[in-house]
Amino acid sequence: SKDHWEVDPQELTLGEELGSGQFGLVLEGMWREKKVAVKMTREECMSDDEFKEEALVMTKLSHSKLVQLYGVCTQHSPMCLVFEFMENGCLSDYLRARKGQLSQDVMLGMCLDVSEGMAYLESSNFIHRDLAARNCLVSHDHEVKVSDFGMTRFVLDDQYTSSQCSKFPVKWSAPEVIRYSKFSSKSDVWSFGVLMWEVYSEGRLPYENRSNAEVVESLNAGLRLLKPRLAPDAVHLLMEWCWKEVQGTGIVNIRTTAQS
Ligand code: ADP
Repeated sequence: SKDHWEVDPQELTLGEELGSGQFGLVLEGMWREKKVAVKMTREECMSDDEFKEEALVMTKLSHSKLVQLYGVCTQHSPMCLVFEFMENGCLSDYLRARKGQLSQDVMLGMCLDVSEGMAYLESSNFIHRDLAARNCLVSHDHEVKVSDFGMTRFVLDDQYTSSQCSKFPVKWSAPEVIRYSKFSSKSDVWSFGVLMWEVYSEGRLPYENRSNAEVVESLNAGLRLLKPRLAPDAVHLLMEWCWKEVQGTGIVNIRTTAQS
């Protein structure tokens, strides 16, 4: 085949439905004797052409704590994405289903898994942009892996991609992302702090009863998520470091210094 990331539809067998997501249905499948998860994209939900180029980059990202993208089947219309199969589903559901059963050591291990995957992404100069427990998956041996990295760039639904809109993940986003869509490895670190909070809160939703607007307001006032009951002080300190606003850098600050 011409491109190593192109999946031959002849080699792909589709099975039962696993769920549905941003881009459409997710099906169980088999590919080259491996169990896989196949994301069927709906044309109206995804910008195809840009994605095909980026898929090449994403298939080259390879790490034990990332959900591997094996390839893309572009001959299939609409195209589909072929991923490593993760037996234990998404991390947020996994946490909720095991409420009261997970030890602090296990929780720390989950955070460590995610941090390793994210450190690899940063070293590859790749920004996740949507890190959250719902975008991590759990393997057959209970290892947590980071999934859906970089994918929000191809979502056509502007309800999801504009910080003013209802589906934008404000509760996981750094202030500079909310204010001017400035994504970076640093804004991924902010989201990682919220993910740690989700793990130690056994899958609760952050700022459960608050609207996005209320969350923005309290962040601006310097307020942060509270320490989950199960989180040791040292872990809570790490969360707080993730949620520090970077100050003392940049042109704005030089000006204010010059004026005073
Ligand atoms: P999207 O990223 O398009 O919103 P999701 O990643 O949330 O879609 O997928 C929807 C559901 O499909 C998940 O909640 C999960 O249950 C299942 N799923 C997705 N990817 C995999 C995978 N690699 N292995 C097993 N199940 C998966």
